[in-house]
Amino acid sequence: MPQKFVFITGGVMSGIGKGIVSASSGLLLKSRGYSVGIIKIDPYLNVDAGTMNPYAHGEVYVTEDGGETDLDLGHYERFLGTNLSKKHNITTGQIYYNVIAKERRGEYLGKTVQIIPHITNEIKERITGLAKETDVDIIVVEVGGTVGDIEGLPFLEAARQMRVDLGPENVAFVHLALAPISNVTGEQKTKPVQHSVQELRRIGIQPNIVIARSPRPLEEEARYKIALFANLPKDAVFSDHDTKSPYEVPLLLERQGYGKMIVRILNLDKREPDLNAWEDFVNKLYSIDKEVPIAMIGKYTRLKDSYISISEALKSAGVAVGVLPRFVWLEATDIEKGKVMIEEELSDVSGAVVLPGFGIRGTEGKIKAIKYLRENNIPTLGICFGMQLSVVEYARDVLGLRGANSTEIDPNTPHPVIDLLPEQKRVKYMGGTMRLGASRIRIEEGTLVHELYKKEFVYERHRHRYEVNLDYLDKFIESGVKIGGWSDSGLVEFIELSKKDHRFFIGSQPHPEFTSRPLNPNPLYLGLIKEAIKA
Ligand code: GLN
Repeated sequence: MPQKFVFITGGVMSGIGKGIVSASSGLLLKSRGYSVGIIKIDPYLNVDAGTMNPYAHGEVYVTEDGGETDLDLGHYERFLGTNLSKKHNITTGQIYYNVIAKERRGEYLGKTVQIIPHITNEIKERITGLAKETDVDIIVVEVGGTVGDIEGLPFLEAARQMRVDLGPENVAFVHLALAPISNVTGEQKTKPVQHSVQELRRIGIQPNIVIARSPRPLEEEARYKIALFANLPKDAVFSDHDTKSPYEVPLLLERQGYGKMIVRILNLDKREPDLNAWEDFVNKLYSIDKEVPIAMIGKYTRLKDSYISISEALKSAGVAVGVLPRFVWLEATDIEKGKVMIEEELSDVSGAVVLPGFGIRGTEGKIKAIKYLRENNIPTLGICFGMQLSVVEYARDVLGLRGANSTEIDPNTPHPVIDLLPEQKRVKYMGGTMRLGASRIRIEEGTLVHELYKKEFVYERHRHRYEVNLDYLDKFIESGVKIGGWSDSGLVEFIELSKKDHRFFIGSQPHPEFTSRPLNPNPLYLGLIKEAIKA
């Protein structure tokens, strides 16, 4: 069977759930027994998402092979339950970088290097090359941004050419656009969808399917209008209306015959999807009526997407034990400025996550919160920077090392309990140079971490430059702190308070949220939720 491609484009505005629709499309094909890969195209010039602030693009998702990617890759991995590589996130930056390098090597000698065909060829080669390399039946390609954006044009042009190159039975186009509800009349408006389809057709792409994103189910009249203007039969127009959870979206689309429609367009064998496990998960999620308050302490809390893999890991853990986390977001900079009283905010949470981060802003606020969590026996998970600052807090308050700090925050600290990784000392460039990706961790027996993982070795993903300074380790161990896991090169991966000092306090240098899946939550997040619901 020739490999098939499904392009998902967006219209009217971004942030309407194209990532979820792409992940859902992948799941519906996978549930029919096809092997599926998903690519996210980000038309910005950054080579990867690693150098962007979470406020710019939400969380930076780390792949197993150490890619710093768009958060949509997190949706894909969670929906499909597979691990993708960094090659599944393509940016304009990468494409131009490669083309310019080829030009300098003389690979286009004699030619004028142009957007069409050189940039578009590079894009097509990246997509088809990855399809070949991963040997999957179908690749879903989400084109970031909205149709009409200047920076997205070369990608859409490459996609258009692919349908001509490979044939219409091998390349499908799905267009997702917003059908808003008028505040004044309460009507469902289809004009924005019509316009964005027109924009797509103007550049030569006739979509096979249109999905209308609307707060309410798509009305018959609206469906009819969209079909008419989009030059499509009515059954090729689908409704993606508000659901209680994004995990319902694949089921919502499947109920309307979306999976069958893609199968028909791509001339695939008709197969029944097996969505039982997914349906069970969603039913369980919807039937939960118990909540557990979990504090989320970070400095990008104004944009919840900054920590999306962590909140999803906690939700999945909650579903597994029949409760839903209620997040109590605490902005570290507000704690620092005294705008938020931690005693008030933390006195009735049942658990807490001290979130990852970079740089000085908000650190003293986080440390204040950590002290409260430690002294008040509140189940706590510190992730990456959250772990490092827990080490700083303990050094200052318990070990009496005044002025202890991470050298990231205070290069002249008298007690650098967190210090730059040795290999980081030579690093000059900021992009893609952290300690990144999954590596093996040996779990120490007799620790809480071991109790949770029940394994001798685990693989978790990293994204950091600083580490626990081994020179101070004896002092920590003498005072009762336990090392839960070691990297192959002898770095501290997990560190915890002993059970007699605290019921559940784990610091994790890696990010276990990246291996957490809805149907298979990560043991550390599961452990936190289980401990939090013990009265
Ligand atoms: N800033 C810290 C470091 O670089 C922690 C990074 C993180 O939380 N992801 O080590």
